[in-house]
Amino acid sequence: MTVIGVEEIQTGIEAAEPRFGKLQALYGLLPETQCRCDRPGECCLFLPQMTWVEALQWFRCIAELPREDRDAAVRRFLGFFLSNPARRGHCPFLADDGGCGNYEFRPFACRAYGIWSIEWGRQGTAQSREGKKALVAMWRRYGIELPEETATHEMEYCDKVTVSGSTPPPDSRLMDLLSRVHGLDDAHPEMKRCFEDGYGSDFSMLMASLVWGRLKADLNKYAVIKDLIQKKSDARLEKLLAKATAPF
Ligand code: SF4
Ligand code: SF4
Repeated sequence: MTVIGVEEIQTGIEAAEPRFGKLQALYGLLPETQCRCDRPGECCLFLPQMTWVEALQWFRCIAELPREDRDAAVRRFLGFFLSNPARRGHCPFLADDGGCGNYEFRPFACRAYGIWSIEWGRQGTAQSREGKKALVAMWRRYGIELPEETATHEMEYCDKVTVSGSTPPPDSRLMDLLSRVHGLDDAHPEMKRCFEDGYGSDFSMLMASLVWGRLKADLNKYAVIKDLIQKKSDARLEKLLAKATAPF
């Protein structure tokens, strides 16, 4: 399989139902944390990395919303997909007060952020910076020069998270839990591979593909980024979002 459609999402949610509880149980093995920064949500700049089962959990959350809220949620993901990286956005679930709008179902990546060691976090930040350089080069090949402040923006790994009542678990423990979270995808090998390889584990890309189809989603993004940067116009973005509705 190379393309995931609405039917695969619906059957995927049903098939993954027994694993949602296991996922929550694994999340429960992480320690309680407290944030000590004065800018909550600053770390929610991007969509978190997630597994296929975690993505299905998000689809289920959105599918259960009333129609109007569902459309609004889908549009937020489409807006993120289309305008990133021309604009500095944030995770579509980030609430106005800096809290998480989907706290109960936030992925492992969000839960473990700030608990990993500083060394591990800095390494991840460095890798992400390298990835952004590759992204800038890719858009340059398309004739588009991404703005410096959004293309290369990367926050330093946060050191303001404390673990309640105990010392933080070592990276080896977190890696073991992460591997068990990924292991829940093993029951759906074909979908896991397709989500990872075909969509880069990017929930917003998958959402856009469900709404417009894979190729059209990419073409829409190219046209929107070009307009945002070269014409300084968000008319196309607004028009696409105004017409979009939830595909499920
Ligand atoms: S993880 Fe860090 S940046 Fe994010 S809310 Fe917590 S303390 Fe603030
Ligand atoms: S899911 Fe919640 S915690 Fe994670 S990036 Fe989005 S808003 Fe932040």
